[in-house]
Amino acid sequence: MTSPTPNPATPPSIDKTVLASEFQAAMLGHQLSLNYQPIINLGNGHICGFETLMRWNHPSRGFISPGVFIPVAEESGLIVQASKWALKEAIRALKRLEGHVGHNEKIYMSVNFSPNDLASETFVDEMYYIISASDVRPVQVQLEITGELLKAQPEQALETLNICRSTGLKVAVDDYGLGDPSVFFGYMDEFPMSAVKIDQLVVRDLLKDSNKIELIRKIIEEAKNRNIEVIAEGVESKEEALELRALGCDYGQGYYFMKPLPERELTGLLLQLTGFTELLK
Ligand code: C2E
Ligand code: CA
Ligand code: CA
Repeated sequence: MTSPTPNPATPPSIDKTVLASEFQAAMLGHQLSLNYQPIINLGNGHICGFETLMRWNHPSRGFISPGVFIPVAEESGLIVQASKWALKEAIRALKRLEGHVGHNEKIYMSVNFSPNDLASETFVDEMYYIISASDVRPVQVQLEITGELLKAQPEQALETLNICRSTGLKVAVDDYGLGDPSVFFGYMDEFPMSAVKIDQLVVRDLLKDSNKIELIRKIIEEAKNRNIEVIAEGVESKEEALELRALGCDYGQGYYFMKPLPERELTGLLLQLTGFTELLK
């Protein structure tokens, strides 16, 4: 079975050292924000959570893509501080959302973490502290970590993820379905995870490619055998959403439903949390 390989990263045109010091200033100067993209239950169109995606509005360069600044933040180690900020902000946003729609333990925030985060010795303690200092339940927080991270730091990831899962946090493996299937299918037994997120390169044009449909079918089958949820990323059309649902995929996320938006632009419709039912008819 073949599967797509990841795109090489776009080379940033700004000097990395300069950008790293500017990123540090950005964290102190409140230039970072989060956008939120809903994760939809493909069965009923209800929102079950939001992925948080970091945005940097640079005072002179304007918006810088995360594809550029996240690698710089990772290489400089600044990502650890940025991730902590993102987790705190995501929790605060969830509380504000609950202020509008009422407390709902089924709604979670899904926050991206990098290899550096898990490599930090204090990661688990700090996560625990941040979450316990808030009044959201651990089940309302999902950590997104990539398969690359699992491959690079298998022992550390196993230990950390075991602790996270035992405290009730959700753990999703991001960018799933890329690379060697024997490796990524192996992750399902090697690591404790509550969900896999099928990468958008796998989902892209799935209706035109029977290999992709077979791969998605197999991912869903293997995941369901282990009680792991499946979230498809990069859903851009109704046809894709309906095909994924027919294949048994539980959840979807993508431009067809909504682009990642700042909190203030999440509309009243969305705050009802059932906003996407019509799009799946
Ligand atoms: P990712 O975690 O795989 O996030 C999904 C990316 O796909 C996001 O790009 C999102 O805007 C985009 N996307 C969502 N739906 C669609 C769709 O239907 N079609 C297409 N073409 N794209 C879609 P974004 O926001 O530019 O982020 C890029 C990457 O930067 C993320 O990929 C993630 O690896 C990283 N990133 C973003 N925020 C954070 C963060 O807070 N922490 C860390 N460590 N990484 C982050
Ligand atoms: Ca992600
Ligand atoms: Ca992804």
